[in-house]
Amino acid sequence: MKLIDGKIVSEQLLTEISKNIQQHTNIRSPHLAIVMVGNHPASETYVNAKIKTCEKFGFKGSLYKYPESIKEKELLSEIQKLNEYHEIDGVIVQLPLPKHISEHQVIETISPNKDVDGFHPINIGRMAKNLPALLPATPGGILELLKFYQIETVGKHCVVIGRSNIVGSPMSILMGRNGYPGNCTVSLCHSKTQNLEFFLKNADIIIAAAGQPELVKGDMVKEGVVVIDVGIHRVPDTSKKSGYRLIGDVEFETVAPKSSFITPVPGGVGPMTIAVLLKNTYLAWQQSIINKKI
Ligand code: NAD
Repeated sequence: MKLIDGKIVSEQLLTEISKNIQQHTNIRSPHLAIVMVGNHPASETYVNAKIKTCEKFGFKGSLYKYPESIKEKELLSEIQKLNEYHEIDGVIVQLPLPKHISEHQVIETISPNKDVDGFHPINIGRMAKNLPALLPATPGGILELLKFYQIETVGKHCVVIGRSNIVGSPMSILMGRNGYPGNCTVSLCHSKTQNLEFFLKNADIIIAAAGQPELVKGDMVKEGVVVIDVGIHRVPDTSKKSGYRLIGDVEFETVAPKSSFITPVPGGVGPMTIAVLLKNTYLAWQQSIINKKI
């Protein structure tokens, strides 16, 4: 069994990008704008982590914070302003949003060129057509992990568990595309799938994004399987200073001994999501330089 180390892969990816940025001493650095609505403690933690990572690798990260009471129309007009501001390369909106604001409206208002979360229908469509696109960050991060460890994907049976717009669905499209990583035969399993175990037992690669703690257990998988665990769950643990520990959608203790490669939680997929968010911002910045909007 080999552990897939997301910390190493993300650090290496961002260090390379950071070196490329440093070569352009005469132009501004890539700039990510993070829009946040209301006070959501978990969101604040994620936003702070993103801004810190920006600073560490030579990006500019700016927080645009709005009150919970902001009207949808007003928020959309603020996003439009960020779209038009040439010194901003990437715009993301921290989810979840208050109930009175439509997530779809917000995502579709972000300019596809600045949509560094890769959620805009234009980027999803380009991705599905195997055209250059800003990829959704978590699935994009999983591709980086597969590439780094040179994991064979051609002709393999890949089972993706979960069909969310941000992880499962795009992941299933990416693994089935003609390219590397890709060229898999893909089964997309979800809450209505009957006999998940049948699919798992026949999987060469499992990408678990169901949001169900330790759903995948050792007796459900075959020997030599590659396991990517996207899930993150806090469970109480009095032996930890924090009072909790993190687990995934995969029961690590029973699945790891049967797998050829496996991601841990934490330290597997998690660090890759931020890394690809910044990679996308870097790509948008490069595009902006080409368009001379610096
Ligand atoms: P989601 O709740 O939007 O979607 C979950 C999907 O799983 C749904 O499509 C549902 O049909 C399916 N599902 C639920 N129970 C199932 C079951 N028993 N069998 C088969 N399918 C089932 O979740 P999401 O936003 O895609 O996130 C999934 C998990 O990944 C969560 O734990 C989330 O916290 C985590 N996550 C981690 C990262 C990261 O950076 N590591 C990023 C995004 C999400």
